[in-house]
Parts: sequence; C-alpha cells; structure tokens
Amino acid sequence: MAQKGSKISTIVIDAGHGGKDPGASGKHSREKDITLKVALKLGRYISQNLKDVKVIYTRKTDVFIPLYKRAEIANDNHADVFISIHCNSNPSTKAYGAESYVIGLFKTKDNLMVAEKENEAIRYEDNAKERYGSFDLNSPQSYINLSLFQNLHLSQSLQLAHDIEGEFKSNADRKARGVYQAGFLVLWQTTMPSVLVELGFLTNPKEEKYLLSNKGQSELAYSIYLAFKKFKTTFERENNVKPPAIASRTNDVVQPKQRLEYRVQFYASIDKVKDVNKKFKGVSSVSYYQSGKYYKYTAGHFNKINEAVNYRNLIRKKGFKDAFVVVFLDRKRISFKEAQKYLPGK
Ligand SMILES: [Zn+2]
Repeated sequence: MAQKGSKISTIVIDAGHGGKDPGASGKHSREKDITLKVALKLGRYISQNLKDVKVIYTRKTDVFIPLYKRAEIANDNHADVFISIHCNSNPSTKAYGAESYVIGLFKTKDNLMVAEKENEAIRYEDNAKERYGSFDLNSPQSYINLSLFQNLHLSQSLQLAHDIEGEFKSNADRKARGVYQAGFLVLWQTTMPSVLVELGFLTNPKEEKYLLSNKGQSELAYSIYLAFKKFKTTFERENNVKPPAIASRTNDVVQPKQRLEYRVQFYASIDKVKDVNKKFKGVSSVSYYQSGKYYKYTAGHFNKINEAVNYRNLIRKKGFKDAFVVVFLDRKRISFKEAQKYLPGK
C-alpha cells in the first residue's frame, strides 16, 4: 500500500466462513449466508459510487476459503483496505449490537471469546499446523503472541473501525458496541489497514430477524460503504499534502507568537503507551494528544511543513507506514484549512 502512496484504490471484501464452515448460527440463519449477502451488497455500493476503487471479493459464492488464503488474496492484490464481515453469537439471547475489531491484545474475556470463535474456522482446514505455526486455539498465550504481530497500519485500522461503528449508529440506527482489539488469524498477516466487523448477534431473535432481512443487510452494507468512503477521503486528503503549495506560504519562519507547528503523526492506540522510548525506538521528540478514545502519537516539532514532510518520509522508512503530517496551534490539533488563517501575511 505504501508503494501506491496516496490513493485508496483497491479494497478486498471478505465474507466470513463459507462452504463446509457455516460459522455461527441462529434459529433460522447461518452466518456464512448473511456475511456473503452483506459483502456483495457492500461491493456493489462501492463499485457504483466510487469508480476509482477496484473491489475484490475473497468469495462470491458459498465456498470454503482458509483464513490464511483470505489474507493472501488481500496481500497479493496489494489491497489498500481489508474488511472481513462476520456475525456474532452469544450464550445469552439478550446480547445485541455491532462491534468492529482490529488486531491487538484483547482487554476483556468477551473480546477474546469473539476471536476464539472466529479462529475456530481453522478446524476445517487441512495443514492448519503448517499454516499457523505454534498457534493453539485453546491457549491464551497464543492469543497474546498473535497480538504482538501488530499490524503496521494500526492507527488507520482503528480509524476505519471507528468510522464503521459510527455509521452503524448514525446511518443504520443500530446499537454500536464499539471498537475492540483481539487476535484474529484472518487479520494476522494482512499488510494494509484491516478491520473485522461483527454485524450483530444471530442468537438475539430480534437482531437475527434484522440480519436476515433485505433491509437490514442493505442498511449495514451501506453503513460500511459510508465509513469506507469517509476513510478514503480523509486518507487521501492527509496523504496529498503537497509541500510546495503550502510551503510557499511559509517561506518565512512562522512567528513564535502564533505557535503553529507541524508534527508527524505515526501511531494511535486505545491504551496509553507505557514506555515510549522503548516502544518507539529511533523516533525522537515523541509527544501525544488525546482524540476521542485514542492516544495519538506524534514525532518532531517543525515550523516548516516541508521539514515535517521530510521527517514523515523518514518515519515511514522506520516502519510506521501510516505516518502523516499534522498541524497544531497552541498544542491543539487543527486542520490544514484552519492553519492557513494563522500563516504569516494572512
Ligand atoms: Zn465469523
């Protein structure tokens, strides 16, 4: 994805389960059928409305695809975004609502349980041992190890997951249970922003009815489409910072009293990073700010945007491929548009 730079032009949509693996089931439903319908609808919304995006499906019919293969399809096609679609289940019929996951360390037993259920799919695979190494479905340590293979695009993944939950709530009027982290094998080896969506609970009779309905499937697919569109727009805006255009206005050093500064944002997390020096070895002048539920980490303090852009390139080479330039006024993050007002000569 980094090679292509600043455009989101390919999405891989993954309908969970399929074929001999039905996934979770409700009274009248099987997960694999609902995930396929929503995946196809999502792909259709994207193809119809975002002509510059190529849509690739891991499956378009009721067939079994191993988990590693799904990630491989995304990597081989140099996808910019990977979305895996699933339905939840719970021993309690009361649980309902949608959740979005990115790979990382689980915080609650419920989150671990969701990952365990989704990873069960490898029971249907031959050679799972070869494919997933020492991963053991029943060992909590395995899940901790898995989460250490953190996706380089964690901050982007969190952003997309956050947007999806937001649209479930505002567009589809669903209960959005939030963004969580856990160790999912399907997200383990993808090399682009990746989110696993749990549309809702098949074990809740009311929600099952909604998930089975054409209206429900369309609303959920459209919500994910809206979130993807938002993510794409933001990403392309932030990555198309053209140094010469804005730098021409900043030929003079910004006056200190204005306290406008550029930094490179390179990491985000729900949890505060405990040992910044250890975690971000080789990255200097790290600071963070809070935005919603997230701690966002930046590096460097620059008066000139072109210096920040150079530093961003350096940070990207260190493995933080999402890194992008952000601007602060008096230590508060503002948009580039707002920043224009505070530039000298304005
Ligand atoms: Zn599933």
